[in-house]
Amino acid sequence: MNVPTGFRFDPHKCFIGGRWVTPKSGEHMHLTNPSDGAVICGIARGGAEDIDDAVQAARGALNGKWGQTDAASRGRILTRIGQLVRESVDELALLEANDVGKPLSQARADALALARYMEFYGGAADKIHGETIPYQNGYTVYTLREPHGVTGHIIPWNYPMQIIGRSVGAALTMGNAAVLKPAEEACLTALAFAEIAHEAGLPDGALNVVPGVGELAGSALSRHPDVNHLSFTGSVSVGKIIQAAAAENVVPVTLELGGKSPQIVFPDADFKRALPFLVNAGIQNAGQTCSATSRVLLHADIHNEVLEMMADRYRKLKVGPATADLDVGPLISARQKTVVSSFLEQIEGNAYVAAEGSIVEDAPAEGHYVKPTLIAGVEASHVLAQDEIFGPVQVVIRFENEEEAVAIANGTDYGLVAGIWTADGARQMRFARAIQSGQVFINNYGAGGGVELPFGGVGRSGHGREKGFEALYGFSTLKTVAAWHG
Ligand code: NAD
Repeated sequence: MNVPTGFRFDPHKCFIGGRWVTPKSGEHMHLTNPSDGAVICGIARGGAEDIDDAVQAARGALNGKWGQTDAASRGRILTRIGQLVRESVDELALLEANDVGKPLSQARADALALARYMEFYGGAADKIHGETIPYQNGYTVYTLREPHGVTGHIIPWNYPMQIIGRSVGAALTMGNAAVLKPAEEACLTALAFAEIAHEAGLPDGALNVVPGVGELAGSALSRHPDVNHLSFTGSVSVGKIIQAAAAENVVPVTLELGGKSPQIVFPDADFKRALPFLVNAGIQNAGQTCSATSRVLLHADIHNEVLEMMADRYRKLKVGPATADLDVGPLISARQKTVVSSFLEQIEGNAYVAAEGSIVEDAPAEGHYVKPTLIAGVEASHVLAQDEIFGPVQVVIRFENEEEAVAIANGTDYGLVAGIWTADGARQMRFARAIQSGQVFINNYGAGGGVELPFGGVGRSGHGREKGFEALYGFSTLKTVAAWHG
């Protein structure tokens, strides 16, 4: 692997039952660096047999040491993992920057978030419990919160560390044993995480990582009859396949899918405070963020003023290699660049490019760079305002009044996140209720990404919640015990 870190894992191998094993097929794929197109390393191409081994190893862990590990001890192990992640933050960031093309400081923030997830869930492990229920005389009734069993985690390439933290972290906290299938485009931090977890004392089989392509390894994991819960983060189209597979085995599934999240600005807002949130939430990770602000709704009275403020910021945005740590890195792949470019070709009618950032001159030609693009004059019903672009592109939509703003905000298939900027407290409250989404932010956007804050969508953005304590309810099942004692 041509990324200089102290990690010892061999990317050609899967991590199953506490050991690094070559996939049964002996095959591997190539990981490339989105910043320059260079091959980073070969990576295991796990298949159905490897997934089966991983599920069996997870079951073995539940029937063995991991199943016997009490809540406080689980918490200590997770906390220890968090400590080791924290000590490796720079190395993890370097792996992620090379693998995903994410500017170094953004990759570092993800590594810190992973540490934070482990600390948060480590602390929560022995603080979540059932209840006693007042019932008829002669009975004592209580509930037990138990793990599902083997949990399958299929994750995308855009935020591997954060998504591992919120899904695998929560699953382990509740005593499940996890099988993780990272995305084929970005696997390195998933394997590094396995190495760290092992070193922290996580019993063998409690976490298994099988890299591989979605149609083989991902499909095998989602359809495996001995998997008791599925957590999927990715596209709507694959989410539907996963939900169908879960239905076949009648297991619960959490779907964290896409978004077309708006920020809405009223004339009484603090524009200066709003500006960095409006722009950064659109360009972070080159816009390849499920909760990206891809629509900015500006009230007609302040439309031109705020648009010009945003445009001014866009003109200063610099795009370049991840390790140069500029505002924006490359897209993940040539394919993603084609997708984003095809959206940019659909600027039509009254829509126009209000401003663009620039790609630095020494950016390698083989990197997948796209200029951040701010598009104004977009109709709310246009494809640019309806579809998830997943690139550094924001559309600006003008609105006249509160009613229209709510209708536009709710007028897509998605419902992940929304932000509103206004000093009017009553309007804030009305909006928070009227917006159809999993999270609403008032006079901020993202609240710093807090691991404590339940996250998930409505509509095509998915269902189920991860992050916070809510994830712990999702990654456990409730058993009611009614004892008659007279
Ligand atoms: P994707 O759906 O193509 O892939 C996601 C994962 O699914 C990968 O691991 C892939 O290998 C696997 N997969 C693909 N086909 C499969 C199949 N038939 N069976 C089982 N697994 C399969 O998504 P992507 O392009 O990697 O990620 C981008 C999408 O993810 C965007 O839509 C984005 O909004 C969404 N996303 C959502 C969140 C969230 O929390 N809501 C977070 C990050 C990304």
